[in-house]
Amino acid sequence: MSIPPKIQIGSFRIAFLTDGLWRNDGGCMFGVVPRELWKREHPPDEQNRIRLNLTCPLIMRASDAILVDCGIGNRLSDVERKIFDHGDGWLPGHLRALGMELGDITAVLLSHLHFDHAGGLVRRRDSGKLEAAFPRARIFVQKGELEIARDPRNERLRAAYRHAEEILAPNRDRIEAIDGPVEIVPGVTAIPTGGHTRDHQVCAVADAGASFAHLADIVPTRSHLRGPWNQAYDLDALTTMEQKTLHLGRAITERSWISFAHDDQVFAARVTIDRGRIALAETIPVPEQD
Ligand SMILES: [Zn+2]
Repeated sequence: MSIPPKIQIGSFRIAFLTDGLWRNDGGCMFGVVPRELWKREHPPDEQNRIRLNLTCPLIMRASDAILVDCGIGNRLSDVERKIFDHGDGWLPGHLRALGMELGDITAVLLSHLHFDHAGGLVRRRDSGKLEAAFPRARIFVQKGELEIARDPRNERLRAAYRHAEEILAPNRDRIEAIDGPVEIVPGVTAIPTGGHTRDHQVCAVADAGASFAHLADIVPTRSHLRGPWNQAYDLDALTTMEQKTLHLGRAITERSWISFAHDDQVFAARVTIDRGRIALAETIPVPEQD
């Protein structure tokens, strides 16, 4: 188990944890982009799945330990584990590599409630019982996201949130529904974007002139830096594109670090404009053994 790489943003230390590598259908990840284009950077397997990550930045300062998203966790059935090529989840191991445990997390900021970002809210015990993974953490999610997850109105939403009750129930007392942009602690802000889901949010950190943003499913891999490269899952791809322009524009002018929720090679990067296109400048690569 590799030690998660870190960056310093003012007085914050940010470690890039992952809940592990997994696989998902390449067509779903790139929407209208033809396979011939995405397969060069993301070679599909015989089931058309590409290798993805479950990057969860951990933002630390003094006693604050704020995790942004928490991966898939260990709750999947055997059939789902095969479909997504994911096991028990690496997050607890990566926390141990930092000298921490699940109980040290003081807050979890959820970009949205899809299973690959919020499934890790629970851990399945050997008995089969699901318990809260982060027993001391306040859990922040947009109010609208919570409402839709609890009461999906159509078949597509019902499928996207079929796990929601299972992961929310053991955490019921510690979930805080936020409405609009909210500063979780001074310098760490949840910013709604919409696009991927109606109430999807990203996390921005700013301190002493330095800044960082986890763009979650607005820019899930390095390939999604390109405007039209968006996931087929996006409920409103045009909003995703607008939000991408906004947040990447800011990252370029402020020389911010950004991190990618699902890139299998790059945890985080600084971006720049190269011959009219957004390009990676500095990067924090995913260690080989991960
Ligand atoms: Zn995702």
